[in-house]
Amino acid sequence: MLRDFKETAQNLLTVFQNSPLALIALDSNMNVKYWNKTSEKMFGWKEEEIVGQAFPIIPDFEAEKFKKMFEGIMAGHSVPSIEAKRLRKDGTLIDATISPMPWYDNNQKVKGYLVIINDISNFKHIEDELKTQEEKAEHMAYFDYLTGLPNRRLFEDELRRNFEEAKQRQSVLALMFLDLDGFKFLNDTLGHKIGDKLLKEVAFRLNGIRRATDFVSRVGGDEFTVILSNLKELDEVHDVAQDILKLFELPFSIENYELFITTSIGISLYPYGSNNIQDLAKNGELAMYRAKDEGKNKYQIFSPTMNISTYKKFTLQNDLRKAVAEKNIFLLYQPRVDSKSNKIVGAEALARWKHPEWGIVSPEEFITLAEESGLINTIGEQLLYEACTQNKKWQDQGYNPIKVSVNFSALQFLQANIVDTVENILIATGLDPKWLEIEITETVVMENEAHIALKLEQLREMGISIAIDDFGTGYSSLSYLKKLKPSTVKIDRSFIQQIPIDIENTEIATAVIKLSEKLKIDVVAEGVETSEQYAYLRKIHCHELQGYLFSKPVPTEEFESMLKTGECLPQTGVLTEDSSFDNRREYFRIDLPRQLVAEMTITSLGGKAVQMGMTKVLIEDIGPGGVRFTSNIKLPARPDLILKLKTYILDQTLEVSGSIVWTNEVDNLQQYGLKLTIKDKLRDSLTSLLNQFQVSIRNKTITSTSSFLATSKRQFFSPKLEK
Ligand code: C2E
Ligand code: CA
Ligand code: CA
Repeated sequence: MLRDFKETAQNLLTVFQNSPLALIALDSNMNVKYWNKTSEKMFGWKEEEIVGQAFPIIPDFEAEKFKKMFEGIMAGHSVPSIEAKRLRKDGTLIDATISPMPWYDNNQKVKGYLVIINDISNFKHIEDELKTQEEKAEHMAYFDYLTGLPNRRLFEDELRRNFEEAKQRQSVLALMFLDLDGFKFLNDTLGHKIGDKLLKEVAFRLNGIRRATDFVSRVGGDEFTVILSNLKELDEVHDVAQDILKLFELPFSIENYELFITTSIGISLYPYGSNNIQDLAKNGELAMYRAKDEGKNKYQIFSPTMNISTYKKFTLQNDLRKAVAEKNIFLLYQPRVDSKSNKIVGAEALARWKHPEWGIVSPEEFITLAEESGLINTIGEQLLYEACTQNKKWQDQGYNPIKVSVNFSALQFLQANIVDTVENILIATGLDPKWLEIEITETVVMENEAHIALKLEQLREMGISIAIDDFGTGYSSLSYLKKLKPSTVKIDRSFIQQIPIDIENTEIATAVIKLSEKLKIDVVAEGVETSEQYAYLRKIHCHELQGYLFSKPVPTEEFESMLKTGECLPQTGVLTEDSSFDNRREYFRIDLPRQLVAEMTITSLGGKAVQMGMTKVLIEDIGPGGVRFTSNIKLPARPDLILKLKTYILDQTLEVSGSIVWTNEVDNLQQYGLKLTIKDKLRDSLTSLLNQFQVSIRNKTITSTSSFLATSKRQFFSPKLEK
């Protein structure tokens, strides 16, 4: 908690450009060296116009006092934060607290000052308005004496009011529960006086990032709440929670201490999981305890009635940072095969996340999250390093060298030093650049053409190949390919499907291949699944093929065993549904004339009971031992994931529970085999119900209601907004 500020000061400036606190660095002459975004907002001066200028926010009448204060710091004294009027660019004054600290150079000498500033005008405003004794008395009843924030009583009123409003407007309401981590220890060791000052500072900081619609209060010792009303998107909740956590990244300068403290945040949402005020309060607190459990300095969202995919997204978003730190994201390799010789000429490296609860998570589920959180840069670097290391290792082991291609997100190209990063990785791993290919999607390149074209050019000059991915999904033209000079074009899977039956697709693929031949660009057909596609693509001289027909993406060792033979032959029969489960069945199954609409929820995850909302799935067949069903949600097959399915047959609700024992992907939907966990007695009654059902289906004497699917499967799963 009490860290040496000297160590961290060096990093502050780069880290806090986007801090919700105003952070300013001054040199020893009190000229501005650094001015972050929040300072811009708070005072009106832009970074460009203020850096190098004299510190502008001190009104003349205080200049002398400030000079003294800074001299004190230079002499090694610690200075407490002060409240005073501050000047804005437009000449107006705001009330602010200002916390100055020493700024050290590499030799631990004071080279200037770091200043954290909070706008507390809102507080002052309230206090100034209170003229009469009566008003003051009332203020005391509703406001916390120490921090000036609304107290528990006012919070409860406000929560009630916001809740009614959210109900009426059908808007989303979030309640955040904050509890400082280790406050008690700090309070006991440093004394209450310091503890109180710290709480006050925390209150100021929290209030500083409050938006017009937010409500911040102190509800007890070191407990604060924030109400976010009228939310448009759930993402806002994440943003605010992250902003709050960021508030605690800067130290609190209190008397002679630079204190570091963090907070744990629990969040409850109406109408997601909390449907009344009591639940909001209870669930927020529960989630806060969970955040503490998970290692503090975190936020947790309570989400029982969120549907599974939303819940999954939330947890993935929460866990991604940890996954990166613990290197739980790894690569699979899918061979790229020469269409004439069936030799393996390359491999595409595809990311996977091994998640403790959700099993193997696909990049489609986490790359966007990584892009939103900025983690994509770290992930991209880690994976590039892994791919290069692995490829070099294969070469050192004596396998025929192949090109490994790595997917890049557009955001990675927006990093100024991306070219250096790639170069450094190549140097560190010793991989010759000609064995690395970078895949970037067509749409991405088009949107940021000039910038990305330049970076691609630099990478190409280093000897790295560039592949345009998902070709055909954007609106590219011939001139475009000429300009970017990729070594490879990968025809998107959607054009390979239905070749050669679909005439249009076939024509497009043929045209791309011809064009590339002229431009001396390699063509890869992606997503080759059938021998018909294979035969045709060979016929039209597509150079390289990639797809399940040859191999799914596989782990390193498995890919290595393919390298031993150096070739990869088309497989037969791999894409048919897994029938092994059917053969192992102990019980009969009913073949349904149509799928049954059912609702699914998870009741237990990783050994812990959980509460979630229902998500619609389709039951394909059902028997007393198991159920086969289809869902658009990816779930792992593991015994500690317990699902409940609920459907309606012969006028009765039928509920079964079990765990997934096999999974299969068909047309972007997931098929699952659910092995039921059921007591023998209940199994008997289920058996008899299903027997009746079977008879009624056979005789087509269905007079009772069962929830058979009335639309097409595709319509059923077409995305629609669900709560
Ligand atoms: P992509 O670059 O188009 O990768 C090809 C995707 O098609 C892979 O999905 C691959 O497993 C799948 N695929 C290959 N052959 C077949 C086939 O015959 N049939 C079908 N149905 N699918 C096939 P995957 O691994 O789930 O990756 C999905 C997307 O996630 C990738 O699409 C890529 O855009 C992105 N991605 C994967 N790894 C990374 C990464 O390391 N960084 C970044 N930024 N994106 C990645
Ligand atoms: Ca790709
Ligand atoms: Ca692709």
